[in-house]
Amino acid sequence: MTAFCALPSRAPRGPATRSAAGTFERDRLPDPASYFESQGFPLKGPGLWRTTRCDFHGGSDSLRINTRSGGWCCMACGAKGGDVLAFHMQHHGLNFYEAAKALDCWSGDAPQRPRGPADLSDRDRLELVAWELQIAWVILGDTRRWPPQTDPDYLRFVQAVGRVQRLVQRGAA
Ligand SMILES: [Zn+2]
Repeated sequence: MTAFCALPSRAPRGPATRSAAGTFERDRLPDPASYFESQGFPLKGPGLWRTTRCDFHGGSDSLRINTRSGGWCCMACGAKGGDVLAFHMQHHGLNFYEAAKALDCWSGDAPQRPRGPADLSDRDRLELVAWELQIAWVILGDTRRWPPQTDPDYLRFVQAVGRVQRLVQRGAA
């Protein structure tokens, strides 16, 4: 085996190095009964399952609420969800993060949309090209005998890697 196996140690800024997003804290969801009451849905009836109106289709007493889990289901239109968060999303037209944030059940940063090539600056693009070239260079080196043979095509490739790296360094200066 050759000792030539180290990948470049520094990854460029780019899609692979996004910072970690926040987290959803399920145990901070509000108590289901208090939540529905506070949203203007008076709960009728005794027991685990209570009844209230359904705004999804406009019914006055068809939405059943499980006061322990927060699960809910409309007996008329079939709207349903497993918890208070699902209700908050559907009732207010929010996505998961927005609803969790509104209910104070999100800690940390907002989830970040994965960046595609269109979102990268020219400089980021160049760094990614250099990074990919370096990886290709390492892999090629590993599959060849080392030290390298004086194969003109391989030497031309190594030259290309060097040129791109210099371009990146010049861009950084
Ligand atoms: Zn309904």
